[in-house]
Amino acid sequence: MMHNRIQEALTYDDVLLVPQYSDIRSRSEVDLTTDMGRGVRLTVPIISSPMDTITEYRMAMEMDSNGMLGVIHRYNTPQQQAALVAKARSGGATNIGAAVGVTGDFEERSELLAESGANIICLDVAHGQHLLMRDALKILRQKFPDIHLMAGNVATREGFDMMVEWGADSIRCNIGGGSICTTRIQTGHGVPGLHTIMDCAHSQYAGDYRIVADGGIKNSGDMVKALAAGADVIMIGSLLSGTVETPGDVIHDGDFVRKAYRGMASTDAQKDWRGRVSSIEGVATTVPFAGPVGRILEELEGGIRSGLSYSGARTVTELQSKALFLRQTGAGQTESRAHIEDRR
Ligand code: IMP
Repeated sequence: MMHNRIQEALTYDDVLLVPQYSDIRSRSEVDLTTDMGRGVRLTVPIISSPMDTITEYRMAMEMDSNGMLGVIHRYNTPQQQAALVAKARSGGATNIGAAVGVTGDFEERSELLAESGANIICLDVAHGQHLLMRDALKILRQKFPDIHLMAGNVATREGFDMMVEWGADSIRCNIGGGSICTTRIQTGHGVPGLHTIMDCAHSQYAGDYRIVADGGIKNSGDMVKALAAGADVIMIGSLLSGTVETPGDVIHDGDFVRKAYRGMASTDAQKDWRGRVSSIEGVATTVPFAGPVGRILEELEGGIRSGLSYSGARTVTELQSKALFLRQTGAGQTESRAHIEDRR
C-alpha cells in the first residue's frame, strides 16, 4: 500500500531573517558563549570538520585559540592521531576534539586519544542512525563518563533522539549537504540542511543536548540562519579549506596557488586511507590558497555578531526566540547577492 506523502523542505538560500529593532550599540555586546556540556565551553560556536584536508593539530590549535573547536580527523593510525592530539595539547589548546569510527579499532583509538588529552570524542560516520553507532556509543559512554561525546550524522528529529538516548552529548545534523558531498546523488537520501535543524530543534532533548549544524554552510549568513533555526554550534569544512593551517602542501598550478579539499568518501580519500574504494559519496578538488585561517575566523565571527544584532538579539537563545524567517523566491535570491556584474 502506498503510504508516502511528499513533504516540502527548505534550506538556507530559501529563507531570510527579517531585521528587527535593535538596541545593541556594538557587536562586542553580543555574547556567543556556548556551553557544550561535560565541561566544554566555546566562546564562539564554530567547529572545524574532522577531514584530512581540514583538521590536524595546527587547525585544532588555531580554532581553540579563537574560542572555537577543532576535531582532528581519524584517517591515520591511532598512534598518529594521538600524537596530533598531544601536539595540540602541549601547544596549549584547552579543548581538543578527535574523531573515531564505530567499528574496528575505535575503542583502542578512543583510549589513546583520551590519554593524549582529547576532551571531545566524535563518533564520525555518514549514517549515524545505525545499529553500529548504537553499540559504539553505549560502549564509549560507559567507558568515558566524563568525556564529551559528539556523534553523527543524522537528518531527522528521530535520529537526533536516538543518538541522545544512546549516549551522545552533541549531534551532527545534516545528511548530504556538504560542499564535497554526493550522498544525495549516489543514494537518493538526505534532507535539506535548514529543514533538518528545524526538525531537530523540536526534539524533546533540544536545549539539553547540542545541535551541530554540519555541512553546506557557505557564509556567516548561513551560520546565523542555522543558529536562528535552533542550532547550538556550526561545523564547517569548505569555509576553512585552502588555509595555511589545513594539512597538505600548496599546489602550484600555473599562476595559481591552490590546496586540496576532498570529501572523506571520495575516491581519492578512500584510496589513501583504506586502499580500496566502496560507495563513492564525495568529490575531491582543489581550492585557491586562502592564507592564514585567523582572518577568515574573524570575519565569520564578526558576521555572526552582526547577524544577531540585526535581529536585536544579544545571545543565540534570544535570537532563537525572536527570529522571524521568511521564504524568498528565486528573484529574492538574485537580489540578495551582489548583482552589479549582471549588468555586463
Ligand atoms: P562543508 O562545510 O559544506 O564543506 O561540509 C563539510 C561536512 O561534509 C563535514 O563536516 C562532513 O559532515 C561532510 N563530509 C565530509 N566528507 C564527506 C563525503 O565524502 N561525503 C559526504 N559528506 C562528507
